[in-house]
Amino acid sequence: MKFVMIKKKSITRFFIALFGIFIFTLNLFAFNHFCIIPNVLSISASNENTFQQKIFNLMNQEEKIAYLTFDDGPTLKSTPKVLDILSEENVKATFFVIGKHVKEHPEIVKRAYDEGHYIANHGYSHHNDKLYASANSFINEILSTDVEITRAIGIENYSSHVFRFPNGYMASSYKTKKQEYAEFLSDIDYTYIDWNALNKDSEKKYSNAGLLNNLKESSKNKGTLVILMHDTSDVNETHLVLKDSIQYLKEQGYIFQNFYDLK
Ligand SMILES: [Zn+2]
Repeated sequence: MKFVMIKKKSITRFFIALFGIFIFTLNLFAFNHFCIIPNVLSISASNENTFQQKIFNLMNQEEKIAYLTFDDGPTLKSTPKVLDILSEENVKATFFVIGKHVKEHPEIVKRAYDEGHYIANHGYSHHNDKLYASANSFINEILSTDVEITRAIGIENYSSHVFRFPNGYMASSYKTKKQEYAEFLSDIDYTYIDWNALNKDSEKKYSNAGLLNNLKESSKNKGTLVILMHDTSDVNETHLVLKDSIQYLKEQGYIFQNFYDLK
């Protein structure tokens, strides 16, 4: 009986000790957790005003600001028409240009730049096999596009500092490569941005009314908008609905900015 009592006591002590270790470990985790989080917060708080940080936080903002972004240009068929409408509406936008197209039509990029639009970087070839062939190839796609923009606009060592991944960072294709290579962007003083609204003008199935409706649907109940459109005319012609799109956004209380407003 005595033996059983001692055994019972030992078992109880064992479980109390185990519980103690558990609580101690929990506290350690909590200590680490609460020590690390404020450090991270203080780092991001101190960087809050950098251009990269503003780009990073852009789509979380409540203000009704619309950033129109046009990908895949410049093209002869579309970009000048887009520029004409932006000029008529007094709206400054951002163009994510493809390096090889800049080489073909430098005069269009020069016009966009001179008219106050932000020239951003969409890679040289828009060819995922080339872009993700190696880390060097990835960086080269971005920097060689900057070289073409520099030649086009006549500004020394131009860097847009903003890259958009072809098909977007959020797309599932090449996900691992994108995660890996995105780390290198800060080495060349770059960041990247996707979008949070779009008119789906890269899909074939929409009429002009459908494009406008897609924009309305995708921008519903959102604050700051980064809107994806294309200044190409191989699929849909966004310039045909651009005036109505701008009008709609103005009616919704939006003002228009481009990435220069974040500098
Ligand atoms: Zn693209």
